[in-house]
Amino acid sequence: MGVNRRMVEKFLEGKGALITGGASGFGRGFAIAYASRGAELVLVDVNEQLLEETSKKITQETGKKVIPIACDVSKSDQVEAMAKQAFSELDNIYILNNNAGVGDPYGPDLLRLKEKYWDRLFNINLKGQWLVSKSVCKGMKKQEFKPISGKVIHTASIAGMIVDNKIPAYSICKAGVIAMTKLLAQSLAPKITVNAISPGYHVTGIYNNNEEAMLMTMEDGHVKTPLNRLGTVEDVVNVSVFLASPDSDFITGHNFPVDGGIAEVGVPAYYFKSDI
Ligand code: NAD
Repeated sequence: MGVNRRMVEKFLEGKGALITGGASGFGRGFAIAYASRGAELVLVDVNEQLLEETSKKITQETGKKVIPIACDVSKSDQVEAMAKQAFSELDNIYILNNNAGVGDPYGPDLLRLKEKYWDRLFNINLKGQWLVSKSVCKGMKKQEFKPISGKVIHTASIAGMIVDNKIPAYSICKAGVIAMTKLLAQSLAPKITVNAISPGYHVTGIYNNNEEAMLMTMEDGHVKTPLNRLGTVEDVVNVSVFLASPDSDFITGHNFPVDGGIAEVGVPAYYFKSDI
């Protein structure tokens, strides 16, 4: 039951999904999963070429309408125009995945981090999610779907749960995304649910699709994963499908770590040098 049953059910037929960072990684994974379950899509990304390629591929594979919209989520004028276009292209936006994100340069701690990286991370990873919700949730609220008129799903990170001083701005932004999930859930209840997913370590574009680069950061931080394997894109997509489905209609304001147990029962990144 649950996720597996939903794997074959077209429970998103007649519904629209808007995914930021939809050209790559988790975003592309959410897009394929939703289209396979009947959704029409708006994919939003700043990488225009990849966005076009991904959108065409998903339409070819699933036969569903996929509208690519090039947009930098950190720019309010672009976000407003994007949301307007999205509602004119689709009948509704039932699912919003606020997912676009970028990483820190790995290494410099909070006191060494350059201001330009702080600004870039905050503008894209935190302000970007806020701007997109502001522009999309107004229209979502007016939709007639019952019992829930729309669902917002944030991509946070375990770095926002157990802060990591080698990616400090990223950690603070993701802690902010988890806080924003609760605040938005309050503001949008009872019509819209808002939840977050916190992935652990999964090879995607954020690691330049390079497993070695990701393993280096895990080794450097002495990260131990109780479930003893790396995360996949599918691990995260499965939880997003659950959050997009009627099975999660009574859940709002929560953060779901998908990390093989690192944040709660494993050993998260740890850099102190100490003898005891
Ligand atoms: P990814 O690089 O494959 O995908 C991110 C996408 O966001 C890219 O297509 C990129 O072009 C797009 N993007 C970047 N800046 C943008 C902007 N200003 N406007 C619009 N789009 C923009 O990486 P991913 O891992 O799939 O990242 C998705 C989310 O997952 C991010 O929020 C990231 O922080 C989060 N995350 C990833 C991991 C992991 O292990 N991969 C772990 C925790 C959280």
